[in-house]
Parts: sequence; structure tokens; C-alpha cells
Amino acid sequence: MNKIYLDHAATTPVRPEVAARFAELLSKTYGNPSSIHGTGREARRILDESRTLIARLIGAEPAEIIFTGGGTESDNLAIFGTAEARKDEGRHIITSVVEHHGVLNAVRKLEAAGYDVTWLPVDRQGRVSVEDVRAALRDDTILVTIMAGNNEVGTIQPIGEIGEILKGHPASFHTDAVQAFGEIPLDVDRLGVDLLSASAHKINGPKGTGFLYQRTGTKLSPSSAGGEQERKRRAGTENVPAIAAFALAADIACREMDAHAKEHGMFKRLMADALMGEGIDFKINAERAETLPHILNISFPGTDIEQLLVNLDLAGLAVSSGSACTAGSIDPSHVLVAMYGEGAPELRNSVRFSFGYGLEGKDIRDAAAKTADAVRRLTRLQKGEQQ
Ligand SMILES: *Cc1c(COP(=O)(O)O)cnc(C)c1O
Repeated sequence: MNKIYLDHAATTPVRPEVAARFAELLSKTYGNPSSIHGTGREARRILDESRTLIARLIGAEPAEIIFTGGGTESDNLAIFGTAEARKDEGRHIITSVVEHHGVLNAVRKLEAAGYDVTWLPVDRQGRVSVEDVRAALRDDTILVTIMAGNNEVGTIQPIGEIGEILKGHPASFHTDAVQAFGEIPLDVDRLGVDLLSASAHKINGPKGTGFLYQRTGTKLSPSSAGGEQERKRRAGTENVPAIAAFALAADIACREMDAHAKEHGMFKRLMADALMGEGIDFKINAERAETLPHILNISFPGTDIEQLLVNLDLAGLAVSSGSACTAGSIDPSHVLVAMYGEGAPELRNSVRFSFGYGLEGKDIRDAAAKTADAVRRLTRLQKGEQQ
């Protein structure tokens, strides 16, 4: 059976040239970048090059890039690191209810420890209101953390406008850009952010590698105790091969960004047109928002998400509900709950299709046909049950 992977927002295949770079360095450049001998210096050179390249892609200085063990670790370092470093200045944090769990659960932990948290709602398109951010700001606000692009429905948040408001306020501004990096242009000065998280495995790089951008002068406490790597902000010997592979993947993603955006926009239209052509009843979630090019979240009235995902998997289609699956049952997505409210039908019938490397128009048409088949079968079953 022809398998079609449409879950690139969950993780992506490693590009062959990136895998080749990784494999080459894994055996060849095994030195410890902190060693002073030639073997170590060679690893240091690769690490420095990678840092310079990544920094350039977001308009940062190399010294402002901290390599980490992925997006979640970057989010945690930004949030716990800010809370710890600025705890004497205030205990108020502003975030949104649609953040990734890497942010959500870190902020929840601080809330449980006595920090005061303002949880901003979103509208039916999944958007945070800039005015809400302004209204929530207090003298004791030390951190504002709002994601750049949502991983479930794709909504792009008004980070630049929020950054503009925060220019007159001392709070640190963090954005989880894990889903947005490599998909839309990100310039840390234009966005006005102090901290920005990204991850390699969402852009065809290896898993377990990411970075946190930290603007020069932004206070941050290290999250782990150990050696003096990453300018004392992230202890532990750097994963040089993975970091170099990440830099290569990021460089390719940013160079091909426009072409990918165009192609993914075409995939979205193809998918919608094909479903319409099949006479399927559906609604695109966050349709009126500006969304990340690679994410398409669709609600299919009359279907049930668990049955739909099982049926699509059997048909060789890898898609996602966008939310966590605990003990075999799917919890309603916190993002869709925030958009539509508890009990809304979309919570039980929405599927995330996400596009990326290696896909062609033919795959999208096949995927639409498989989806249409499954939806038809399930809605027919449902009608039968009700009679
Ligand atoms: C995947 C993802 C993360 C977590 O990144 P990992 O590298 O898997 O830890 C964080 N935020 C968003 C928006 C994501 O999509």
C-alpha cells in the first residue's frame, strides 16, 4: 500500500544531505569542543560555524544562540530561566491558552509555585488579541510568552505587534517558534523578541536538537548545573554532529522557504478542492486567520476523531488529531477548546494534515480520496446508528 505521511507538524523525515552530514561528523568530528587540542578545536570550529549560520537566519549574533536538546528544552530554559533570574523584579507572567505543552506545562508549574499567570484567550480563528496583551501588562510582569505559529491549527500570532507594545516595558518577550522557524521569515529585531525557541526535527533535521535565541542583556538563569558550555547557559558537551546537521537543515529550509510556502498553499487548495469535488461536508479550522503554510486543520461533521484516525491509518495515511493521545483515547485538543468552547462538535471531528519534504500533488489527491472514503463510510455508519 502506498503510504502517505501528512504529519510533518509532529516530526519530519531527515533530508538525505542532512543525514549524510550528520553521519560524516558522527565518526569524523568526534572531538569535544571544550578540549584545547586539535581534535577538540576542529569540533569547536564546526560548532562555531553552525552557530554563525543559525544566528544569521534570524538576524541574531552568534553569541545569542544557545544550543539545546530540542524545542521543549528551549521553552523550559526560556521560562524557568527567566522566572529564576527575575524573581526579585516580579512574579507575573502572561501567556496564551493555545501554547504547546513545552510552554503550557512549564508555566503551569510556575503557577503552582506561586507565580501569578494571565492566560490569554484566543478568538475563533485561534488568534491572541494584541489589546489583551497590553491590558494584561503590569509593573511586576517579568515574562510574556506567546507562540509564533500554532502547531495544531497553524494560526500565526501577531508577534511583531506584541513586540512593539513591549518595547516600553521591561518584561522579557519569548516566542515558541518551533513550528514557524523555516516556514515563515523570522527576524528577532523586527519581531521585537528577547527569547525564541526552535527545534531541528520539525525542519528535516535530527531529533533532540534545538536552540534558544537569547537577546544580549536579557536575564536568564541556566537550567542545569555543570560545565561552562554555551557561555554557562546550558551545561553539557554539545552534540556537534546534530547541531551541524541542524544548521544545514535550517539553511536549506530558509533558502527554500518561498518555494515551500507556494507549494504548500497549492496543497491546501488541492486538498480542499478534492474534498469538495467528492461532495464531502467539511470546514477548515482557522480558515480566516493567517496560518503557517504547512498546516491544514479540517473538521468533518458527523465523524468521530478516533474512528477517523484509525480508518485513515488503515488506508496508509499518517495524519494527526493535533492533540495528545492518552491511554488509547484522544483528549479534546486544548487549542480547539480555546477556539470553540467545551463541548463543540469540532473537538471530536477535526484532523490535522501537515505537509513537508518529499510530497507531490499526487500524494495530496490520493490523501483527499482516502479521507473522502473514510468520512463517507463513517458518516453513513453514524446515520445508520441513529435510525
Ligand atoms: C514540536 C513542538 C515543540 C517541542 O519541540 P521538541 O523538539 O519536540 O521538544 C514545541 N513547540 C511547538 C510549537 C512544537 O510544534
